Amino acid sequence: MASTAAKASAKNKKKTKKAIKKSPVRRSLGEGGKFQIGKNIWPLERDVLVRPDRMKYVRKLIKPEGCVFCRAAKEVPSVDTLCVYKTEHSMVVLNKFPYNSGHVLVLPLKHCGDLLKLTEAEFNDLQHTIRKVMKALMDVYEPGGINLGLNHGAVAGAGIPEHLHYHVIPRWAGDVNFFPLIAETKVLVESLEQTYEKLWSILKK
Ligand SMILES: [Zn+2]
Repeated sequence: MASTAAKASAKNKKKTKKAIKKSPVRRSLGEGGKFQIGKNIWPLERDVLVRPDRMKYVRKLIKPEGCVFCRAAKEVPSVDTLCVYKTEHSMVVLNKFPYNSGHVLVLPLKHCGDLLKLTEAEFNDLQHTIRKVMKALMDVYEPGGINLGLNHGAVAGAGIPEHLHYHVIPRWAGDVNFFPLIAETKVLVESLEQTYEKLWSILKK
């Protein structure tokens, strides 16, 4: 037994030596000694990271005029504005580019990008609306869970940093993994109009 173990140990040592010689970085050096990320392991990376067309958004060369949320806030809730519910200080709009069916945004009516600058009344109203829409999403879609998140500020990933908006996204086991989520490749099972109808019927009560 002992000799078998010793043999195995010697074999392992040899393996380790070989592995050190060919370190992960050295092994992934491609032609001309250039470092390459494993394309077999991260095939989606090219889809996610190589989006030169997005640079114009990053650099803010293209900016829609005015605030889309404020425009929607001025109107009566309708499928046209995607606003499905409105209170004294907050509202719920469907995300025009949903990650999942039932993906909505909850935001204050006030044009404000700083949560700390909301009044108590505005903040409380916002929190109540978040809970109300979560309840509606549970009733309509019966998801396994819900992503609830706020990207506070442009560097934190907010698409429209000037106007606060919480994302509320129903989730089901195995619905999407991280890469399809950020690569915007999700296939949805219902239209925005269908989502609007379903949520409207519950929220208007
Ligand atoms: Zn606004």
